[in-house]
Amino acid sequence: MPEPNHPEPAEYAALLSGVTREYVLKGETVRALRGIDLKVPRGDFVAIMGASGSGKSTLLNLLGCLDRPTAGTILLGNDDVTRLDDAALSEIRGSRIGFVFQSYNLIQQLTVIENIEVPLFYQKNVTSKSRKRCIELAKMVGLGDRLSHRPTQLSGGQQQRVAIARSLVNDPYFILADEPTGNLDSVTTLEILDLLDRLNSEGRTIILVTHEDEVGARSRRIVRLRDGQVESDKRLAEIPDLPDPPKPASRA
Ligand code: ADP
Ligand code: MG
Repeated sequence: MPEPNHPEPAEYAALLSGVTREYVLKGETVRALRGIDLKVPRGDFVAIMGASGSGKSTLLNLLGCLDRPTAGTILLGNDDVTRLDDAALSEIRGSRIGFVFQSYNLIQQLTVIENIEVPLFYQKNVTSKSRKRCIELAKMVGLGDRLSHRPTQLSGGQQQRVAIARSLVNDPYFILADEPTGNLDSVTTLEILDLLDRLNSEGRTIILVTHEDEVGARSRRIVRLRDGQVESDKRLAEIPDLPDPPKPASRA
């Protein structure tokens, strides 16, 4: 597909060529990904779909630098992450990528605001300024009046909002979400999708794994996997002119 507005590799949030991932399990090789070529322009909102076992989570983990491919290259921005060491990958995960999971992955003992702060805590970067930014994020996801609640005192949708706020704390340009609405009812699912829409319209690139057609329909593009290969790649909506990418200056 021609992408006239994005001629330079750097304009891609992610660029995958020939990516394979094989797992060896009890002497048998499982070919989870069999040669994925994928270009994700900045500002795109991609839904990865496909049957269970088709390789969706494996692909998302590679995009998130949580795992390495068996072969092939993955560029995130200008960086070939397949050539970086663990420390550099961890830096990229912390600074550029926001993760959202189906099960929220909140820490039960911590309050809403402390959960949002967790990524900063790991970077020993908690300051009064960063606390202010976390409160802003909590307000942005509609939890300004729940700052001291703990996860058990929140609904599933509210917990996912906390997780989304947490994913934004380092101003990532890239948000990866694995079945983010998988545990939510349909009304709450729509609220979370509205929130993701808003983040995307601010210029953040989103890649989301889902098996729900209604969720996929809200993306700009549906990439279907089948047996570890791209079966189809369908654009639903063009990417609008990009606003300036989220500025590190607004970071705490
Ligand atoms: P999906 O998310 O689409 O359900 P996955 O990416 O989780 O698919 O898995 C793709 C294939 O790789 C499946 O056949 C799965 O069993 C296999 N697989 C995934 N993770 C591992 C692992 N850690 N070890 C061995 N096989 C794995
Ligand atoms: Mg999966």
